[in-house]
Amino acid sequence: MNALYDTHCHIDFQVFDEDRERVLKSAAEVGVERFMVPGVSAEQWPRVQQLAEQFSSWRFALGLHPWFIEKHNLNQLKELEKVLDTTHKRLRAVGEIGLDATCDNSELQRELFIEQLKLARHYRLPIIIHHRKTLETTHPLVKQYGPESGVIHAFSGSYEQAMKFVDCGYKLGVGGVITYARAQKTRQAITKVPLSSLVLETDSPDMPICGYQGQRNEPARIVEVLKVLADLREMSTDALSDVLWKNSCELFNDVPPASNDHESG
Ligand SMILES: [Zn+2]
Repeated sequence: MNALYDTHCHIDFQVFDEDRERVLKSAAEVGVERFMVPGVSAEQWPRVQQLAEQFSSWRFALGLHPWFIEKHNLNQLKELEKVLDTTHKRLRAVGEIGLDATCDNSELQRELFIEQLKLARHYRLPIIIHHRKTLETTHPLVKQYGPESGVIHAFSGSYEQAMKFVDCGYKLGVGGVITYARAQKTRQAITKVPLSSLVLETDSPDMPICGYQGQRNEPARIVEVLKVLADLREMSTDALSDVLWKNSCELFNDVPPASNDHESG
């Protein structure tokens, strides 16, 4: 089995405080060698940064996630800019940012999203995009203000919606959604888009994989997503994981682990 990259997991969250080392170990046992851990709010940024310094397999992003809109304000953009200005070797993206139609304060969401897109473009960093019922409004903003690359986290939608982002050079995060047979539209889209546009993710602790509903999700279960994707694409998991690893490294400007970079975690 080739190395796997969980391109979206919140393993810095408190729900992993009790057994984080074990969670990372089970993931490593099934081949997960890299983890992208996105930021969600200004108060959480120092914590994700500190954990990413501790674990060599982690990469991280910083951003203001629409779910936490009540904690955000425009002054935090200055703070974000300050951190982006001081290059950190494991800071690889701006995210998780985006628009969520089920969250309040759509005006502030939009303003924060646009400003973060501009920052990402300025610092030439990819973005990690959250969306819910907002793919159509997200696309023109990304095109107008965003950087040249990024990922649509937890892509769910039609082939046409997918290709709009793929045509802009963006990748699609493939997670637990495709493990449900009822997700016909998304499964069809993911089957048809160019293979070079796909990366894997779990969104741990959220987005349970089919068969594990009601449980905390964790990166080791990315193997289940890989298997379903291999079936859909009619490829072997080996050949598929090889391409997905390269796609993920390209997305986050990452390199394969050097032989002397096998620290624990
Ligand atoms: Zn997330």
